[in-house]
Amino acid sequence: MAVGPLRCNCSIVADLEAKRAIVVDPGGDLRNIQARLTSLGVEVAAIVHTHTHFDHVGCTAELQRATGAAASIHEDDRFLYDLVPEQAALFGMEAPALADMDGALADGRVVRAGALEMGVLHTPGHTPGSCSFVIDDAGKTHVFAGDTLFRGSIGRTDLWGGDHEAIVHSIRSRLLALPDDTLVVTGHGPSTTIGHERARNPFLTRG
Ligand SMILES: [Zn+2]
Ligand SMILES: [Zn+2]
Repeated sequence: MAVGPLRCNCSIVADLEAKRAIVVDPGGDLRNIQARLTSLGVEVAAIVHTHTHFDHVGCTAELQRATGAAASIHEDDRFLYDLVPEQAALFGMEAPALADMDGALADGRVVRAGALEMGVLHTPGHTPGSCSFVIDDAGKTHVFAGDTLFRGSIGRTDLWGGDHEAIVHSIRSRLLALPDDTLVVTGHGPSTTIGHERARNPFLTRG
């Protein structure tokens, strides 16, 4: 669901039998997220972040307070999380409360909720600690790419620690390594597939 003033895509990934869920990027609108958790009948086992731009961490502190779940980032985005007040000010927004973030997201780690396993790929470039999360749902791959890959575009690299060469390398070496029918949940806007971006994304097809 799109949350917060910049319409960040927040995802709830759940094992409905175990009634345990992982929340990806709770950027805002806590009540909407909680309503969805309640309607699914699931408890939050973990809160993870594709990166620490303020629009992706906007209600992490409140969700953490409400659920007691661990909230995780990649350690390379710690400095950026410490800059959340400055980030919000740049966009003319009120700074959100800060959560107790651990730095548990490292490449190759697995985040679990019930039988659900979500793999962590470190995909730096949009920010130094940007991560993508991969799950296999009955043989179909899904990737939560945050602001690294969009439908027909890629993430901006003109903010703190952004690196254009790094983001293109991350996408080519890690995301395009996934099967063509992989569903890509992006950080903003519509979803896409790896095959569509491999064939059509102007940032990836040239050069
Ligand atoms: Zn971002
Ligand atoms: Zn964003």
